[in-house]
Amino acid sequence: MMRRHMLGAGIGLALALAPGAAAAQSFEAELAQTVKADYPSLETLYKDLHAHPEVGFLENRTAKILAARMRKLGFAVTEGIAKTGFVAIFKNGEGPTVLVRTDLDALPMAEKTGLPYASHAKQIVDGKETPVAHSCGHDIHMAWWLGTAQALLAHKDKWHGTLMFVGQPAEERGGATAMLADGLFERFGKPDVGFAAHVSSNATGRVSIKAGTTSSATDSLEIVFHGRGGHGSMPSATIDPVIIGARFVNDVQTVISREKDPATFAVLTVGAFQAGTVANIIPDEAVVKVNLRSHAPEVRTMLKAGVERTARAVAAMAGAPEPTIKATSGGAALVNNPGLSRHMADLLSPMLGDRLNFVAASAPPSAASEDYAEFVAAGVPSVFFSIGGYAPSVLADYKARSLPVPVNHSPYFAPDPAGAIPMGITVLTLAVIDAMNGGTKAISD
Ligand SMILES: [Zn+2]
Repeated sequence: MMRRHMLGAGIGLALALAPGAAAAQSFEAELAQTVKADYPSLETLYKDLHAHPEVGFLENRTAKILAARMRKLGFAVTEGIAKTGFVAIFKNGEGPTVLVRTDLDALPMAEKTGLPYASHAKQIVDGKETPVAHSCGHDIHMAWWLGTAQALLAHKDKWHGTLMFVGQPAEERGGATAMLADGLFERFGKPDVGFAAHVSSNATGRVSIKAGTTSSATDSLEIVFHGRGGHGSMPSATIDPVIIGARFVNDVQTVISREKDPATFAVLTVGAFQAGTVANIIPDEAVVKVNLRSHAPEVRTMLKAGVERTARAVAAMAGAPEPTIKATSGGAALVNNPGLSRHMADLLSPMLGDRLNFVAASAPPSAASEDYAEFVAAGVPSVFFSIGGYAPSVLADYKARSLPVPVNHSPYFAPDPAGAIPMGITVLTLAVIDAMNGGTKAISD
C-alpha cells in the first residue's frame, strides 16, 4: 500500500520540474554541471578543514568559516547555538521547511594517513593536549553540505520553501541534544523534514538507505568504586577497589549473556579501567567506564539498570560504600522514516542503478551510533544517507593485499574527496528539491 503511494510520489520530482522523465534527466545533467563547477573550491575548503580539525564544542574556526560562506550565499546565519553550532536560513517563497545538517567536529586522535593535507593539529581536550584529526570524515560532510546550499541557490527556480541548514557541533559528544536544549526548533521553527549523510568506507558512487532503525542507541556510564586505600602488604586494613572493579568487569557481562534476550541486539564494553599508581599501594578508588549499544528502547533501559545494579552489588559484597554512577553521554537509535526512505530510494534509483543499496526496515541496523537521531526523536521525519568514500581502485588494492580497509575512526581513514563530495551534493540536493515539490507526502507514521 505504502509502496504504491510512494512510487506515485516518486514521479513528483519529474512532474514538478517539467513534464516527463526526460526533463528530470536533464535536470540531473544541469545539476552535475553545477557540482562540477563548484567542486574545485569545495576541495580547497575540504583540505583546509581537514588540516585544521577541531573537537566537539571547540569548532570555533570551522564554524566561523562555514557561517561566513553561508552569509555570502545570502543565508541569514545565527551563530553560537550550543557554543559552536549555527543555523543558516534561506527563504524562497511558500513551501515546506527542510533541514539539512552537517556535523562539525573531529576526533581526539592522531592521523596517520601521510596525506599532504594530513592533520598535525592539537587541542586541549579534557585538560590534556591531544592530537586531533578528521578521522570520521565530518570534513567531507561540511564540504558536501556547503555544496548542497550552493547548488540549491543556483537552481532556486526549481523549488519553493525554506532551507534550514544546521552546522551541528560535537556529533561525538551530544551536540544535537545541546542544540535542541538551546532552543533550536523553538527559535527557528521545527522543520517538516530533514536530511543528513555520513561518508563510509564503501566504494564512491555507492549510496545506502536503510529504512527504519539504522543505528544503535548509545550510553556511556562512568562508575567510581570507592574503597579504603592502604599499604599493599596490609590488605585486611583496606577495601580494595581494584578487586571490586575487576569483579564488576567480569560480572557485568552476564547482563548481556544471561539477562538480555539472545534474539535482541546489545553490546556492553568496558573501555577504561583506571586505578592506582604503583604495585604496593592499594588505591582508594577505581574508575570504570562502560559503553552500551542497543536498538530497542526496553533493552536500553534493561542494560542501564543491569549495569547500575551490578556496580552496587559488587561494592556491597566488599563492604565498600555505594559507588558513584554518572551517565556521561547517551543518544537514541537513529530511525529513518520508512515511507520517506522508500521514496528516496525510488527517486535515486534511476540515476544510481545498482549503486543504490536500499535496506528494508526489517533488516538489522548497524551497531554504530549517530546523534542526528536526536533531531528525529524531536519530531523531524528524516532520511540519513550513507555515501561511499573510497575509490573502487583503492578498495581493490586493499583487497589484493589482503588488508582491511581503514574504516571511520581509524587513524588511516582517508576518503576520496573527488568521489564522495559530488555524490553527497547530488543526493542531498535532489532530496531537498523533491521534498519541496511534494515529496513530504511520502512521510509515513
Ligand atoms: Zn561520524
